Amino acid sequence: MTQTCVIVGASHAAAQLAPILRQEGWEGRIVVVGDEPYIPYHRPPLSKTFLSGEKTLEDIYIRPQMVYDKAEIEFLLNTRVEAIDREKRILSLNNGETLAYDKLALTVGSRVRKVDLPGIDLEGIYYLRDANDVEQIKSKVKEGKHAVIVGGGYIGLETAAALRKQGMDVTVLEMMERVLQRVTAPEISEFYDRVHKEEGVKICCGVGVASFAGNTNVEKVICSNGDEYAADLVVVGVGIVPNVELADAAGLEVNNGIVVDQFARTSDHDIVAAGDCTNHHNVLYDINIRLESVQNATDQARVAAQTLCGKEKAYDALPWFWSDQYDLKLQIAGLSQGYDEVIVRGDRDNSRSFAAFYLRGGVVIAVDAVNKAPEFMVGKRLITGKVAVDKMQLADENIPIKELLT
Ligand SMILES: Cc1cc2nc3c(=O)[nH]c(=O)nc-3n(C[C@H](O)[C@H](O)[C@H](O)COP(=O)(O)OP(=O)(O)OC[C@H]3O[C@@H](n4cnc5c(N)ncnc54)[C@H](O)[C@@H]3O)c2cc1C
Repeated sequence: MTQTCVIVGASHAAAQLAPILRQEGWEGRIVVVGDEPYIPYHRPPLSKTFLSGEKTLEDIYIRPQMVYDKAEIEFLLNTRVEAIDREKRILSLNNGETLAYDKLALTVGSRVRKVDLPGIDLEGIYYLRDANDVEQIKSKVKEGKHAVIVGGGYIGLETAAALRKQGMDVTVLEMMERVLQRVTAPEISEFYDRVHKEEGVKICCGVGVASFAGNTNVEKVICSNGDEYAADLVVVGVGIVPNVELADAAGLEVNNGIVVDQFARTSDHDIVAAGDCTNHHNVLYDINIRLESVQNATDQARVAAQTLCGKEKAYDALPWFWSDQYDLKLQIAGLSQGYDEVIVRGDRDNSRSFAAFYLRGGVVIAVDAVNKAPEFMVGKRLITGKVAVDKMQLADENIPIKELLT
């Protein structure tokens, strides 16, 4: 009897898990159930080239349909899994049908954090998580009109850059003292603040949004300090929350994400999970963490597929991430939490190319590299090698970065 593996969620993790499962020898049915209408697409371009109109949805499909067809991977799109009966191994779907599984993979990702403020339901106010959100945002993009971005994180800043490039008058409102405060050192925040201002974006930090006003479409954003900003379009980007409810209701262990072991297994031996929705132990940093990145979704999905095929390989990849804004390619390796020193390499104040190395006890634990691919590459090796570096050499651009490895 052939077995069925069902994958819930059709995005980055699923697009990796399903073909790898086949490659690793899974002979039974593979069914991917996704509540969006599309086969998996790259989410990062949503706030970059898809928003700016440079790429279409077809351009950003992770794999063409024929790859799935060839591997006999079935899709049930526009379909939501509502409940998991672990005893009977049956899923309840939102169309009233059921689907039996032998093995289950949860790649349900995360959703936007919503704000509950007066006026939030006005037209012209959007969150940004999927292709449909961006289609709606695009319909409001017009040169010379006012866009207000609520939240100065990566998504907010990338959206600001894409809208500014299309000639909108853009303001970013950030509640914290600086942009990117949750994820980077002040050195990086100051740099992005400068570049956005150079590009003509207004950045206001330390301001909380109190309400939105307008007739049918939003017309202004009102802050708690009384300041008002004209707005024809508002994009709210204030973080995400993991989709854990399905797993939680089924009795799986959940703690800021679906808890998985190093083999991507949940507390049920027949259920794996991968991507944004998981919380796992990172061996390199010795912490439990939930990551929000394509690298994590992809690498953990591979491990999950191998586990389902009985070929257990521990997940120990170094976390990395990127962000594109204007002509800036930021590449981030490692986790900077707990750093005690930042060493800057390059002219951060006057150029658009530099790297910031985060150190703890003299050892590099993370790097943020802006238009500095070699520093990113070497940084990765310094982190995994737990190398104690000479700080003077690290800061000196005249010394080739590769020399730090010797
Ligand atoms: C605008 C934007 C820009 C980004 N930029 C970057 C970047 O530059 N670099 C980077 O590394 N990362 C970036 N990310 C993050 C990256 O896209 C995510 O880490 C990645 O999408 C995670 O993939 P995933 O498969 O775990 O989950 P998701 O992409 O969240 O997909 C989960 C899917 O499951 C579906 N689903 C949930 N519950 C159910 C259910 N019960 N039944 C059926 N389907 C369900 C969801 O609707 C969704 O389609 C960005 C994200 C966004 C939104």
